[in-house]
Amino acid sequence: MMHTPRKRFGQNFLHDQAIIYNIISSIQVKPDEHWVEIGPGQGALTEPLLKQGLQLDIVELDRDLVMLLKEKYKDFNNLNIHSADALTFDFSALIKVDEKLRIIGNLPYNISTPLMFHLLKSSYCIKDMHFMLQKEVVNRICAAPGSKKYGRLSVMMQYYCSTELLFDVPPESFDPAPKVMSAIVRLAPHQKPPVEINDMVKFNEVVTQAFSQRRKTLRNSLKKLIDEDAIVALNIDPSLRAEALSLNEFAKLSNQIQEIS
Ligand code: SAH
Repeated sequence: MMHTPRKRFGQNFLHDQAIIYNIISSIQVKPDEHWVEIGPGQGALTEPLLKQGLQLDIVELDRDLVMLLKEKYKDFNNLNIHSADALTFDFSALIKVDEKLRIIGNLPYNISTPLMFHLLKSSYCIKDMHFMLQKEVVNRICAAPGSKKYGRLSVMMQYYCSTELLFDVPPESFDPAPKVMSAIVRLAPHQKPPVEINDMVKFNEVVTQAFSQRRKTLRNSLKKLIDEDAIVALNIDPSLRAEALSLNEFAKLSNQIQEIS
């Protein structure tokens, strides 16, 4: 069966066997695990996963692809196919007994950030996630304080997960080829949060506000939320910019702002 890639579903199918092999070997699959694949497409990653004998749930939005996958893999009894939008899918409902999910996906790049934040709502039941993303986005997720790429996405993702760029994937590995370089990122939700945050809504607000004008010092960018003296009292230099602040310093700021507001 032939399927014409649909742009509106962000379809870029992997066809480079060496890359597929690299992905499968770097995720270190065990047969007793429960995996979820998001956006299986025509099954480039689905098939090698299924052959390992693990339990696999796949979530695909394109109904034509769902039909194609149902037919192609009808002999595998370790597969469940969900015809659904991953952005609203309840991943925690897949959990059986005492287990954690492992998630993988060559994601449609236009929805990758909201999808990761949606998944993080269920992070307590996720062991790890491996995603193919735009390399630029992977760099931002993994960036350390002081780097130009360090921003809201880095701080938020690093609060929830340990992050690691595994390897790059060039455009010609896909059909059709995207315009940008891609990379595989590994995100492993922390067992215990790395810093204590009293109010996630406030934390999100403070981080967003601090980075909304990256060039401004904290003294100015957070003026509406906290006084300069109160920043100094936290042992944070108010003349710094957001990009110099560690996760721990953002936590201290937001906990203090929550207390005084
Ligand atoms: N994993 C395949 C396909 C990647 S293309 C491969 O590597 O070849 C991205 C896939 O995500 C497509 O199959 C597309 O239909 C699907 N998709 C797009 N938006 C989605 C959504 N909101 N929920 C679930 N799947 C989606």
